[in-house]
Amino acid sequence: MDCGQQYPIDRIIYVCESCGGLLDVCHDFEAVPVSRETFDARLGSWEKPYTSGVWRYKELVYPGIPDEKIISRPEGNTPLYHVPALAGWAGVQTLYLKHEGENPTGSFKDRGMTGGLTQANILGVRRVACASTGNTSASLAAYAALGGFEGIVFFQNKQVALGKLAQAVAYGATCIQVNADFDRNMELVREAADRLGIYVLNSINPFRLEGQKTIIFETLQQLRWQVPDWIVCPGGNLGNSSAFGKALRELYDLGLIARLPRLAIIQAEGANPLYKSFRRGLNGLEPVHAETIATAIKIGSPVNYAKAVRALRWTDGVVEQVSDQEIMDAKALIDRRGIGCEPASACSLAGTAKLVRQGIIRPHETVVGILTGHILKDPEATIHYHSRQLDGIEAHYPNALLSAEPSIEAISHLLQAPRGEPSS
Ligand SMILES: *Cc1c(COP(=O)(O)O)cnc(C)c1O
Ligand SMILES: [Zn+2]
Repeated sequence: MDCGQQYPIDRIIYVCESCGGLLDVCHDFEAVPVSRETFDARLGSWEKPYTSGVWRYKELVYPGIPDEKIISRPEGNTPLYHVPALAGWAGVQTLYLKHEGENPTGSFKDRGMTGGLTQANILGVRRVACASTGNTSASLAAYAALGGFEGIVFFQNKQVALGKLAQAVAYGATCIQVNADFDRNMELVREAADRLGIYVLNSINPFRLEGQKTIIFETLQQLRWQVPDWIVCPGGNLGNSSAFGKALRELYDLGLIARLPRLAIIQAEGANPLYKSFRRGLNGLEPVHAETIATAIKIGSPVNYAKAVRALRWTDGVVEQVSDQEIMDAKALIDRRGIGCEPASACSLAGTAKLVRQGIIRPHETVVGILTGHILKDPEATIHYHSRQLDGIEAHYPNALLSAEPSIEAISHLLQAPRGEPSS
């Protein structure tokens, strides 16, 4: 992406050999004409691979590969919720939440993993690995099992959300707990992969990002290709933000959308290296020590920093940070609407509200917030919020668990009056 050096698509390589920069997958779109009608015609298809919300856009993801090489659950086809009550709370007229937690393993990582495992299949490698805060491991484990690969995952030693750890173990991956944080694990995976000939499927792998581009394609198709003013997403390792930038750029260059929305990347205050860099004019990355309840974005040294900067420049984007308090309150509101998400996802709503308060997002604008992970991924965070057991976090929207003696009098006493509507 920096110096323009090109490499063949079947070469196993993660960074540029001449400048050390990140790699982009480049397709020759002129050779494969696409139109909105092509993608619309495939909606509801029973035919593989078009049943997948990733491979519906095959021409924009990985044109020309044989369909039988594709490893797909199928993923995508996630709902776009119209949420007027939450729009009102955030202070905008129109808010949609694109729920990527409703993918097969419960996070958007599935869209990347179908891209990554398909490339592994094309390359003929049999062992794949990642370091993970949790969701990448769950997804890698599932897709490796589906395709008959050995999946290897490096977990940090603490604070891996229970749902994610359980998935990786259950899907049969080789799970290694390493006594180090995510950032150190990321380095170790790269070294181990080089030494042992294992294929790395973290988001440094550009084929992952090709799959994740389809979050944007599908959202725009669901909006009948009407471009929203803002797309708001959480930022951790910044793979998703990077994929969004590339997706928007490609749609615009191909004439599939008429203008570009602005991208807002939201980080947790305790894991905010991109936010800090943004405040300094995006003049480089200074890693931080990461701490936040939103474990999916607890990353201090994001691998895809340079691509995220590019996405911000292409889309006139902004970066904001939110506290764990704001994250958990916004999550409680999303949950209370019957939708639900894991903590990191709630950055999208908390960040939207904050940007509206600052006058950056204006009230008449249309916002699409990305929910990245499923509510069941991190049940502890949810239960501890509602039972007021989170250190330093006050539950502003609690739903206390009630208990009663086994008598009809006790139950009647509790249920005497209806509880009424949620406050938001
Ligand atoms: C991976 C993940 C993120 C962060 O995405 P990046 O691409 O690393 O920035 C956010 N939320 C959830 C639920 C995730 O699994
Ligand atoms: Zn280079």
